[in-house]
Amino acid sequence: MKHESDYLIIGAGMAGSAAAVALRKADANATITLLGNEAHPPYDRPPLSKALWKDGKEDDIWRAVKSEKTTLELGRTATAIDRVLHEVHDAAGDTWKYRKLLIASGGTPRRLPFGKDIIYFRTYDDYKKLKAAAQPGKHIVIIGGGFIGSEVAASVTAHGCKVTMLFPEDAICARAYPKDLAKSVTDYYREKGVDVRSGVTVTGINASGALELSDGGSLRADAVVAGLGITPNTELASDAGLIVNNGIGVDDHMRTSDPDIYAAGDVAAFPATALGRHIRVEHEDAALSMGEHAGRCMAGEDAPYNQLPFFYSDLFDLGYEAVGTLDARLETVEQWVTPYREGVVYYLEGGRVRGVLLWNTWDQVDAARALIAEPGPFDAAKVRGRLPVAA
Ligand SMILES: Cc1cc2nc3c(=O)[nH]c(=O)nc-3n(C[C@H](O)[C@H](O)[C@H](O)COP(=O)(O)OP(=O)(O)OC[C@H]3O[C@@H](n4cnc5c(N)ncnc54)[C@H](O)[C@@H]3O)c2cc1C
Repeated sequence: MKHESDYLIIGAGMAGSAAAVALRKADANATITLLGNEAHPPYDRPPLSKALWKDGKEDDIWRAVKSEKTTLELGRTATAIDRVLHEVHDAAGDTWKYRKLLIASGGTPRRLPFGKDIIYFRTYDDYKKLKAAAQPGKHIVIIGGGFIGSEVAASVTAHGCKVTMLFPEDAICARAYPKDLAKSVTDYYREKGVDVRSGVTVTGINASGALELSDGGSLRADAVVAGLGITPNTELASDAGLIVNNGIGVDDHMRTSDPDIYAAGDVAAFPATALGRHIRVEHEDAALSMGEHAGRCMAGEDAPYNQLPFFYSDLFDLGYEAVGTLDARLETVEQWVTPYREGVVYYLEGGRVRGVLLWNTWDQVDAARALIAEPGPFDAAKVRGRLPVAA
């Protein structure tokens, strides 16, 4: 079957839905179609690992996109883009003609080469599956000590489950936080009752269904969750000959190397002016602001995207916001009001501030963005005290 719309969006997720809303605002009469391969309408993903475990308010996660002349096609997987004919093909054999196309296809969780019942935590369905399994007293094993693993571990522990975390690094979020902060967070998880096994990986699953571990041990679990990062869904773009380099390359209008095709969200690598390079991030703020910007530019607005996205996380009672690059390999400068409970961490590289971690420190995101945009040069002495921490 053949379909036609002014604006076609591949991916009915966070960036796709933000784009649809912006398009509708900018162009009241255009036809807009979202193709989404999940069974659900667009929703916010961050609550899946945090808020929903506290308040259970599932009604709050859905993102409204419906309007007259906006069509949401769920259960549709786009399989190919024909740039010459301006058409997208889907797995059901249908063809979707577009005037302008947005690729907002997000990413796919990295998987282990074994085990069929592991929950690779990304979707609402994954959340539902874990929620059903994570009854108080059940044993949940979490593979991965990054953002998703640490958030799910905290939520499921607070929900009354017995939790074991396994990851190859020395400490939780060791790739992002300075060493002593990561160690402190790990100690905090242990105080909260999480069995944190750093430096331990899962090597297989034996015939009786137990996890085999790199330290020679084995573990049984009622459910196994993995948070091993994602791979951006760039195949459609690369198959269509678009420029892809750790994400679909876009300019500051979210345009790919084809002027009628845009990309936004986790799948897109955009120019971060303040950092002087293209970056691809996996944050809610980026997905929403890039999606919205793409929508406006697709509808004809001529404005550069110059936002440096922030992200946030909650780990038990700890919470933070962060801007820029959080890479523990950079020089880090710590400024604590209360060690590891409240303060700021600056990430320095080549005399510039590349990232700022605002640990239980609020309302400083814009100040952190401004600091990252400053040319410097900065060193530890110069940067310390630049951002106020709450008294
Ligand atoms: C559990 C969890 C917690 C998170 N917490 C935070 C947080 O606290 N703070 C933060 O900043 N960020 C957080 N994030 C990250 C944030 O949710 C993502 O950055 C954001 O969802 C990216 O939006 P997106 O639209 O690019 O991708 P998605 O929201 O993943 O949407 C992409 C959609 O496209 C669909 N799709 C893919 N390929 C096709 C195809 N070929 N045809 C049709 N549809 C397709 C996918 O199925 C998906 O529905 C979290 C993510 C998860 C999973």
